[in-house]
Amino acid sequence: MPSTTLLGVQTDPIKQQRNLVTELPGPKSRALDRRRSAAVAHGVSSSFPVYVAEASGAIVVDVDGNALIDLGSGIAVVSVGHGAPRVVEAVQSQVERFSHTCFMVTPYAPYVEVCETLNELSPGDHAKRTALFNSGAEAVENAVKIARHVTGRQAVVVFDHAYHGRTNLTMALTAKNMPYRDKFGPFAPEVYRVPMSYPYRDPDGMTGEQAATRAIEQIERQVGADNVACVLIEPIQGEGGFVVPAPGFLPAIAAWSRESGVVFAADEIQTGFCRTGDWFACDAEGVVPDLLTTAKALAGGMPLAAVTGRADLMDGVHAGGLGGTYGGNPVACAAALASIETMKHEDLIGAARSIGAAVEQVLRPLQAAHPAIGDIRGRGAMMAMEIVRPGTTEPDPVATRRIVHACHQAGVVVLSCGSYGNVIRLLPPLVIDDALLVDGLDVLTGAITEVLAGAAI
Ligand SMILES: *Cc1c(COP(=O)(O)O)cnc(C)c1O
Repeated sequence: MPSTTLLGVQTDPIKQQRNLVTELPGPKSRALDRRRSAAVAHGVSSSFPVYVAEASGAIVVDVDGNALIDLGSGIAVVSVGHGAPRVVEAVQSQVERFSHTCFMVTPYAPYVEVCETLNELSPGDHAKRTALFNSGAEAVENAVKIARHVTGRQAVVVFDHAYHGRTNLTMALTAKNMPYRDKFGPFAPEVYRVPMSYPYRDPDGMTGEQAATRAIEQIERQVGADNVACVLIEPIQGEGGFVVPAPGFLPAIAAWSRESGVVFAADEIQTGFCRTGDWFACDAEGVVPDLLTTAKALAGGMPLAAVTGRADLMDGVHAGGLGGTYGGNPVACAAALASIETMKHEDLIGAARSIGAAVEQVLRPLQAAHPAIGDIRGRGAMMAMEIVRPGTTEPDPVATRRIVHACHQAGVVVLSCGSYGNVIRLLPPLVIDDALLVDGLDVLTGAITEVLAGAAI
């Protein structure tokens, strides 16, 4: 489909093909990086400093004209692809009508429609309400505000390896010290961390129910169920290493929460919106959270976040107790409605499942060939592998960095994650075509073979 620039000039669509014309980063990216270094705070870093000129589908084109395969989607944000036509159209048409009034002053329909849509799509058919915010961290903060307000309790229970954001409260909820928490304290009080179900690193044969009992006993002994406002959990951990809990773990934690008058809050900011081959990762085991936080893929690249939950909890907060100047910005809301429409129309749930199957087909034989690939896990289009020293479960962040770097050099954007920095995660746009996915996985295979074969010598 040809696109038209602001000046009315027809431009060629971006080919869905990898194409390198300079070394990476190229000269124009390096020049921008020098300016960046003099202007941008060094605390904000980039894992792959090629500067982006434009993007479409699963291809990112840099300022030097290199076309890179995007297997990261800007951290699971552009699941509908870069420049998804419906999203572009919706954003343009909304921004021409009005871009801001503040929903807390004079409201508008797109905010209401996003809330209606989230209430309908989210797990469970009970009465629900939604409130909109700007970022994932802000949604998490508000979920905790709501849980504390309605329960009259203060404690928040989170898990090992959790990632919930970078604001003061969410730093406290996040597990990893470097780079997220180091010397940024003091942190918010009344946050308690318990063990996650982590099948690769748990004792052999530990079931989901047993892992849940381990966590629950710790909560009861160290915090006391009556003091807990909410249990907050990523149904599949994102930043912490794509840790998929053993089957039965989430349902057991949710059931205990319900029996204990504790709000069960699922953070689906990374897992939501078709990524795992369902609308939400909770759906796989029929888990129905009391509160659900979403962001990332919700608005196809525009900043928007939400808390969706049981009407009785959500409405338990006094008028004016929730909000913010930009929360539920109308342009972001228009983008969200168009993104969700795209997900339905293009069957991105089905697409995520096929991507997952294709990725596994490549990674399983690789694991058989390379004992340094300790674990392959994930669900749908959220797959990862854990790199360890062969014959052990000892993390190998150095080899991981080298594999990621080799992919970058070859024009494929992949991300690492994990508490030990030894997990390579794949989060392709769900609209990626087969040939491009195959090419991206070929590059990854080559990088793994090169680095791990080299390491064995
Ligand atoms: C990214 C993320 C957040 C934080 O979202 P921001 O928009 O970066 O504030 C919170 N929770 C999870 C699970 C995430 O993946």
